[in-house]
Amino acid sequence: MYYEESKARELVVAAGLKLVEEGLIARTWGNISARISDDEFIITPSGRAYEDLKPEDLVKVKMDDLSYDGNIKPSSEKGIHAVAYILRKELGFIIHTHQFYATVIGLDGKDKAGAACAGYGLPGTDKLKDNVMQAISKHPSYSAFLLQRHGALLLGKDFDDAFKLASLLENEARIVFETELGNVKPYFEACKKMGTSLPAYIDDFAQILGPSVSLKKEKDEICVGEDREAEEMILDKNCACMLYAKEKHIRPLGFADANIQRLVYKTKYSKLK
Ligand code: 13P
Ligand code: ZN
Repeated sequence: MYYEESKARELVVAAGLKLVEEGLIARTWGNISARISDDEFIITPSGRAYEDLKPEDLVKVKMDDLSYDGNIKPSSEKGIHAVAYILRKELGFIIHTHQFYATVIGLDGKDKAGAACAGYGLPGTDKLKDNVMQAISKHPSYSAFLLQRHGALLLGKDFDDAFKLASLLENEARIVFETELGNVKPYFEACKKMGTSLPAYIDDFAQILGPSVSLKKEKDEICVGEDREAEEMILDKNCACMLYAKEKHIRPLGFADANIQRLVYKTKYSKLK
């Protein structure tokens, strides 16, 4: 399905606000697109705050070569959106989230909670795009995908369908987590009982808080940056990851991958907001 361009721009802006409101992302993470023809889509710009986005800030991208109109940089995950639209002609609206439980249960790279899992690749890379392309091709009947150590991708026929998929997935993922671990809330306190160091298990944690934080500190000593609310959300998600990972013997994110992401975040990505 296609949207008329001005309608697509209006819906993508609305979707950004909805992602923030529903807690499906923190800060400027995630991205949203809407198809406007056989070979073009409208997508969110990279690293910009959803609260301030205007229809004219969105970028029109060509699916075949990822070229784009104007001088606003489109989302770094435009390649993932493009391959999904190319592989599935029926898609009209795609959202990429960093939703809590879907991210946690995706740590081991296995298919679960009604979603197929795409293997790990650093954000914005061809490796991640290729892993997503493989997962979509291999699972023609799935519309919800986990991105290992990163988030989720929801392939919607339209706006409502994409959000329904995100909410269904989150509910199923929470059930998977709670069935396997029981009620282990609050996650931060549970982690404090397990050790003195919290390593990064997921990309957004490595970016905003670094490769590891000391659990000898309290939350308000760890979350001291400009985006405290985002830091707290992501700290909590990474704590749930540590609990899930210990249960299933999953390693933290590699130190090199965590470090490079922290560096790119500090020097480039965080400044776009
Ligand atoms: P962008 O801001 O470039 O869309 O990146 C956010 C993200 O979630 C990367 O995976
Ligand atoms: Zn992402």
